[in-house]
Amino acid sequence: MFHWDNGLKLTKADLAVDIGRRQPRAFISHAHSDHIARHQFALCTPQTAALYHLRLGRRPTLEMPYRQTVQWSDLRLTTYPAGHCLGSAMLLAEDEGQSLLYTGDFKLSESATAQRAELPHADILIIESTYGHPKYRLPPRDEVVGQLIDTVKEILEGDCVPVITAYALGKAQEVTKLLTAAGIPVLQHPKVFEVSQVYRQCGVDLGRFELLNRQVESGWAVVVPPRSPPLQSNRRQIRLAVTGWAISGRAKYWLDVDYAIALSDHADYDELLEAVERVAPREVYCTHGPHEFVDCLRQAGYNAHPLGRPRQGLLW
Ligand SMILES: [Zn+2]
Repeated sequence: MFHWDNGLKLTKADLAVDIGRRQPRAFISHAHSDHIARHQFALCTPQTAALYHLRLGRRPTLEMPYRQTVQWSDLRLTTYPAGHCLGSAMLLAEDEGQSLLYTGDFKLSESATAQRAELPHADILIIESTYGHPKYRLPPRDEVVGQLIDTVKEILEGDCVPVITAYALGKAQEVTKLLTAAGIPVLQHPKVFEVSQVYRQCGVDLGRFELLNRQVESGWAVVVPPRSPPLQSNRRQIRLAVTGWAISGRAKYWLDVDYAIALSDHADYDELLEAVERVAPREVYCTHGPHEFVDCLRQAGYNAHPLGRPRQGLLW
Protein backbone atom coordinates (compact mmCIF):
# COMPACT_ATOMS: atom_id res chain seq x y z
CA MET A 1 0.00 0.00 0.00
CA PHE A 2 3.00 2.29 0.57
CA HIS A 3 6.71 2.39 -0.12
CA TRP A 4 9.68 4.52 0.89
CA ASP A 5 11.38 6.45 -1.89
CA ASN A 6 13.47 9.03 -0.07
CA GLY A 7 10.18 9.79 1.69
CA LEU A 8 6.78 8.17 2.14
CA LYS A 9 4.66 7.39 -0.95
CA LEU A 10 1.21 5.84 -1.25
CA THR A 11 1.92 3.40 -4.03
CA LYS A 12 -1.50 2.96 -5.68
CA ALA A 13 -2.32 6.64 -5.48
CA ASP A 14 1.11 7.72 -6.72
CA LEU A 15 0.99 10.29 -3.93
CA ALA A 16 3.95 11.60 -1.91
CA VAL A 17 3.22 12.24 1.77
CA ASP A 18 4.88 15.13 3.63
CA ILE A 19 7.95 15.16 1.41
CA GLY A 20 9.85 18.44 1.70
CA ARG A 21 10.95 18.43 -1.97
CA ARG A 22 8.87 19.34 -5.00
CA GLN A 23 6.61 16.47 -6.10
CA PRO A 24 4.03 16.04 -8.90
CA ARG A 25 1.35 15.16 -6.29
CA ALA A 26 1.72 15.39 -2.52
CA PHE A 27 -0.35 15.24 0.64
CA ILE A 28 0.65 17.90 3.19
CA SER A 29 -0.28 17.02 6.78
CA HIS A 30 0.42 20.56 8.06
CA ALA A 31 2.30 23.67 7.02
CA HIS A 32 5.52 23.42 9.08
CA SER A 33 8.45 24.06 6.78
CA ASP A 34 9.88 20.51 6.88
CA HIS A 35 6.56 19.18 5.52
CA ILE A 36 5.98 21.49 2.55
CA ALA A 37 7.53 22.26 -0.85
CA ARG A 38 6.45 23.95 -4.08
CA HIS A 39 4.56 20.88 -5.30
CA GLN A 40 2.87 20.76 -8.69
CA PHE A 41 -0.32 19.73 -6.92
CA ALA A 42 -1.03 19.36 -3.20
CA LEU A 43 -3.80 17.80 -1.11
CA CYS A 44 -4.40 19.25 2.36
CA THR A 45 -7.04 20.68 4.66
CA PRO A 46 -8.41 24.17 3.82
CA GLN A 47 -6.60 25.67 6.84
CA THR A 48 -3.28 24.10 5.82
CA ALA A 49 -3.88 25.36 2.26
CA ALA A 50 -4.23 28.93 3.60
CA LEU A 51 -0.95 28.61 5.54
CA TYR A 52 0.79 26.89 2.58
CA HIS A 53 -0.23 29.77 0.26
CA LEU A 54 1.02 32.29 2.85
CA ARG A 55 4.39 30.55 3.12
CA LEU A 56 5.08 29.56 -0.51
CA GLY A 57 2.67 31.66 -2.60
CA ARG A 58 -0.63 30.56 -4.13
CA ARG A 59 -0.33 27.03 -5.56
CA PRO A 60 -2.70 24.37 -6.98
CA THR A 61 -4.37 22.42 -4.16
CA LEU A 62 -7.28 20.09 -3.51
CA GLU A 63 -8.78 21.06 -0.16
CA MET A 64 -9.84 18.14 2.04
CA PRO A 65 -11.97 19.25 5.01
CA TYR A 66 -11.81 16.92 8.03
CA ARG A 67 -13.86 13.70 7.74
CA GLN A 68 -14.91 14.26 4.10
CA THR A 69 -13.73 11.33 2.01
CA VAL A 70 -12.37 11.89 -1.51
CA GLN A 71 -11.71 9.23 -4.13
CA TRP A 72 -8.14 9.53 -5.36
CA SER A 73 -7.11 6.99 -7.98
CA ASP A 74 -7.87 3.59 -6.37
CA LEU A 75 -7.91 4.93 -2.80
CA ARG A 76 -10.42 6.64 -0.55
CA LEU A 77 -8.67 9.42 1.37
CA THR A 78 -10.00 11.08 4.54
CA THR A 79 -8.37 13.64 6.85
CA TYR A 80 -8.83 13.72 10.64
CA PRO A 81 -7.65 16.40 13.11
CA ALA A 82 -4.13 15.79 14.44
CA GLY A 83 -4.14 18.29 17.36
CA HIS A 84 -0.72 19.71 16.36
CA CYS A 85 -1.45 23.15 14.84
CA LEU A 86 -4.12 24.88 12.74
CA GLY A 87 -5.21 22.54 9.93
CA SER A 88 -2.95 19.67 10.98
CA ALA A 89 -4.32 16.37 9.74
CA MET A 90 -3.88 12.65 9.87
CA LEU A 91 -4.56 10.83 6.60
CA LEU A 92 -6.62 7.64 6.37
CA ALA A 93 -6.16 5.80 3.07
CA GLU A 94 -8.47 2.85 2.28
CA ASP A 95 -8.86 0.42 -0.59
CA GLU A 96 -11.05 -2.65 -0.84
CA GLY A 97 -8.65 -4.81 1.18
CA GLN A 98 -7.04 -2.65 3.88
CA SER A 99 -6.60 0.73 5.52
CA LEU A 100 -3.59 2.84 6.43
CA LEU A 101 -3.41 5.75 8.88
CA TYR A 102 -0.56 8.25 8.64
CA THR A 103 -0.45 10.48 11.74
CA GLY A 104 1.93 13.25 10.66
CA ASP A 105 2.97 15.39 13.64
CA PHE A 106 0.25 15.01 16.25
CA LYS A 107 -0.72 15.46 19.88
CA LEU A 108 -3.60 13.82 21.76
CA SER A 109 -4.06 16.25 24.64
CA GLU A 110 -6.00 19.49 24.38
CA SER A 111 -4.64 22.54 22.56
CA ALA A 112 -5.87 26.13 22.92
CA THR A 113 -5.75 26.64 19.15
CA ALA A 114 -5.89 23.27 17.32
CA GLN A 115 -8.75 20.79 17.00
CA ARG A 116 -8.26 17.79 19.23
CA ALA A 117 -6.84 14.69 17.50
CA GLU A 118 -9.16 11.91 16.32
CA LEU A 119 -7.81 8.42 15.72
CA PRO A 120 -9.75 6.08 13.43
CA HIS A 121 -8.89 2.38 13.38
CA ALA A 122 -6.51 1.23 10.61
CA ASP A 123 -4.73 -2.00 9.64
CA ILE A 124 -1.43 -0.21 9.08
CA LEU A 125 -0.30 2.71 11.24
CA ILE A 126 2.54 5.04 10.27
CA ILE A 127 3.25 7.08 13.39
CA GLU A 128 5.42 10.12 13.98
CA SER A 129 7.32 9.10 17.12
CA THR A 130 9.69 11.97 17.97
CA TYR A 131 9.28 11.50 21.75
CA GLY A 132 9.32 7.72 21.55
CA HIS A 133 11.41 7.06 24.64
CA PRO A 134 10.26 6.65 28.27
CA LYS A 135 12.48 9.60 29.26
CA TYR A 136 10.18 11.88 27.21
CA ARG A 137 7.17 12.21 29.50
CA LEU A 138 5.69 15.69 29.64
CA PRO A 139 4.30 17.14 32.89
CA PRO A 140 0.49 17.58 33.05
CA ARG A 141 -0.70 20.33 30.70
CA ASP A 142 -2.47 22.37 33.42
CA GLU A 143 0.75 22.51 35.41
CA VAL A 144 2.76 23.73 32.41
CA VAL A 145 0.17 26.35 31.39
CA GLY A 146 0.07 27.57 35.02
CA GLN A 147 3.86 27.84 35.04
CA LEU A 148 3.81 29.92 31.83
CA ILE A 149 1.16 32.36 33.09
CA ASP A 150 2.63 32.70 36.60
CA THR A 151 6.13 33.31 35.25
CA VAL A 152 4.93 35.96 32.77
CA LYS A 153 2.85 37.70 35.48
CA GLU A 154 5.83 37.76 37.84
CA ILE A 155 8.04 39.30 35.13
CA LEU A 156 5.41 41.97 34.40
CA GLU A 157 5.05 42.76 38.12
CA GLY A 158 8.80 43.44 38.21
CA ASP A 159 8.27 45.90 35.30
CA CYS A 160 10.41 43.80 32.97
CA VAL A 161 9.52 42.64 29.44
CA PRO A 162 8.67 38.94 29.03
CA VAL A 163 9.94 37.81 25.61
CA ILE A 164 8.57 34.39 24.75
CA THR A 165 10.25 32.34 22.05
CA ALA A 166 7.89 29.99 20.25
CA TYR A 167 7.74 28.49 16.77
CA ALA A 168 6.00 31.01 14.43
CA LEU A 169 3.27 28.60 13.31
CA GLY A 170 1.29 26.88 16.01
CA LYS A 171 3.13 27.30 19.29
CA ALA A 172 3.25 31.11 19.03
CA GLN A 173 -0.52 31.27 18.51
CA GLU A 174 -1.19 28.86 21.36
CA VAL A 175 1.02 30.89 23.72
CA THR A 176 -0.74 34.09 22.59
CA LYS A 177 -4.17 32.60 23.25
CA LEU A 178 -3.15 31.29 26.69
CA LEU A 179 -1.74 34.68 27.70
CA THR A 180 -4.61 36.81 26.37
CA ALA A 181 -7.14 34.47 28.05
CA ALA A 182 -5.30 35.22 31.31
CA GLY A 183 -5.68 38.98 30.68
CA ILE A 184 -2.15 39.60 29.34
CA PRO A 185 -2.08 41.43 25.96
CA VAL A 186 0.54 40.29 23.44
CA LEU A 187 2.76 41.98 20.85
CA GLN A 188 3.75 39.59 18.07
CA HIS A 189 6.83 39.61 15.87
CA PRO A 190 5.84 40.17 12.18
CA LYS A 191 6.58 36.50 11.28
CA VAL A 192 4.18 35.39 14.02
CA PHE A 193 1.62 38.12 13.29
CA GLU A 194 1.19 37.15 9.63
CA VAL A 195 0.45 33.54 10.61
CA SER A 196 -1.98 34.74 13.29
CA GLN A 197 -3.97 36.55 10.57
CA VAL A 198 -4.62 33.16 8.94
CA TYR A 199 -5.72 31.75 12.31
CA ARG A 200 -8.12 34.69 12.60
CA GLN A 201 -9.45 34.17 9.06
CA CYS A 202 -10.04 30.51 9.93
CA GLY A 203 -12.13 31.50 12.94
CA VAL A 204 -9.56 31.03 15.74
CA ASP A 205 -9.87 33.94 18.17
CA LEU A 206 -6.47 34.69 19.77
CA GLY A 207 -7.71 37.52 22.01
CA ARG A 208 -5.97 40.89 22.32
CA PHE A 209 -2.77 40.86 20.27
CA GLU A 210 -1.06 43.42 18.05
CA LEU A 211 1.92 43.74 15.73
CA LEU A 212 5.26 44.43 17.42
CA ASN A 213 6.11 47.73 15.72
CA ARG A 214 6.64 50.03 18.71
CA GLN A 215 8.27 50.24 22.13
CA VAL A 216 6.85 47.63 24.46
CA GLU A 217 4.61 49.23 27.06
CA SER A 218 4.29 47.98 30.65
CA GLY A 219 1.93 45.05 31.03
CA TRP A 220 2.48 43.56 27.52
CA ALA A 221 4.16 40.28 26.72
CA VAL A 222 6.09 39.74 23.46
CA VAL A 223 6.05 36.57 21.34
CA VAL A 224 8.90 36.02 18.86
CA PRO A 225 10.18 33.09 16.75
CA PRO A 226 13.35 31.20 17.78
CA ARG A 227 16.69 32.93 17.15
CA SER A 228 15.21 36.47 17.12
CA PRO A 229 17.63 39.24 18.14
CA PRO A 230 16.99 41.15 21.42
CA LEU A 231 14.31 43.89 21.28
CA GLN A 232 15.02 47.62 21.37
CA SER A 233 13.84 48.40 24.88
CA ASN A 234 15.15 50.36 27.82
CA ARG A 235 13.56 47.89 30.24
CA ARG A 236 15.08 44.57 31.20
CA GLN A 237 14.05 41.64 28.95
CA ILE A 238 13.50 38.18 30.37
CA ARG A 239 13.38 35.38 27.84
CA LEU A 240 11.25 32.24 28.00
CA ALA A 241 11.36 29.35 25.51
CA VAL A 242 8.23 27.26 25.10
CA THR A 243 9.19 23.82 23.81
CA GLY A 244 8.69 20.17 24.66
CA TRP A 245 12.47 19.82 24.99
CA ALA A 246 12.18 21.79 28.25
CA ILE A 247 11.56 18.40 29.90
CA SER A 248 15.34 18.28 29.99
CA GLY A 249 16.36 20.24 33.10
CA ARG A 250 19.29 21.73 31.18
CA ALA A 251 17.23 23.06 28.26
CA LYS A 252 17.34 26.67 29.44
CA TYR A 253 21.15 26.63 29.20
CA TRP A 254 21.40 25.30 25.67
CA LEU A 255 18.43 27.40 24.54
CA ASP A 256 20.10 30.40 26.22
CA VAL A 257 16.94 31.64 27.97
CA ASP A 258 15.94 32.46 31.55
CA TYR A 259 13.04 29.96 31.66
CA ALA A 260 12.14 26.91 29.56
CA ILE A 261 8.48 25.84 29.64
CA ALA A 262 7.59 22.27 28.57
CA LEU A 263 4.49 22.97 26.48
CA SER A 264 4.66 20.70 23.45
CA ASP A 265 2.60 20.26 20.29
CA HIS A 266 3.88 16.68 19.89
CA ALA A 267 2.65 13.52 21.59
CA ASP A 268 4.91 12.44 24.44
CA TYR A 269 5.87 8.82 25.13
CA ASP A 270 2.63 7.93 26.94
CA GLU A 271 0.47 9.56 24.25
CA LEU A 272 2.35 7.68 21.53
CA LEU A 273 1.59 4.37 23.23
CA GLU A 274 -2.03 5.43 23.73
CA ALA A 275 -2.32 6.34 20.03
CA VAL A 276 -1.09 2.90 18.96
CA GLU A 277 -3.53 1.21 21.36
CA ARG A 278 -6.46 3.25 20.06
CA VAL A 279 -5.73 2.64 16.39
CA ALA A 280 -5.19 -1.09 17.12
CA PRO A 281 -3.21 -1.78 13.92
CA ARG A 282 -1.82 -5.08 12.63
CA GLU A 283 1.43 -3.37 11.65
CA VAL A 284 3.10 -0.19 12.95
CA TYR A 285 5.82 1.83 11.22
CA CYS A 286 7.60 4.49 13.27
CA THR A 287 9.06 7.62 11.69
CA HIS A 288 11.23 10.44 13.08
CA GLY A 289 11.79 8.80 16.44
CA PRO A 290 14.36 6.83 18.41
CA HIS A 291 14.73 3.13 17.66
CA GLU A 292 13.81 2.35 21.29
CA PHE A 293 10.18 3.09 20.48
CA VAL A 294 10.09 0.23 17.97
CA ASP A 295 11.53 -2.05 20.68
CA CYS A 296 8.92 -0.85 23.22
CA LEU A 297 6.10 -1.63 20.77
CA ARG A 298 7.53 -5.06 19.97
CA GLN A 299 7.74 -5.84 23.69
CA ALA A 300 4.07 -4.83 23.97
CA GLY A 301 3.28 -7.39 21.24
CA TYR A 302 2.95 -5.12 18.19
CA ASN A 303 4.36 -5.94 14.78
CA ALA A 304 6.48 -2.76 14.70
CA HIS A 305 9.18 -1.49 12.33
CA PRO A 306 11.29 1.66 11.86
CA LEU A 307 10.67 3.72 8.72
CA GLY A 308 12.95 6.34 7.14
CA ARG A 309 15.55 8.47 8.84
CA PRO A 310 15.43 10.06 12.31
CA ARG A 311 14.46 13.77 12.30
CA GLN A 312 17.39 16.17 12.20
CA GLY A 313 17.58 19.07 14.63
CA LEU A 314 15.37 20.45 17.34
CA LEU A 315 11.61 20.59 17.38
CA TRP A 316 9.98 23.65 18.82
ZN1 LIG B 1 5.03 20.04 12.81
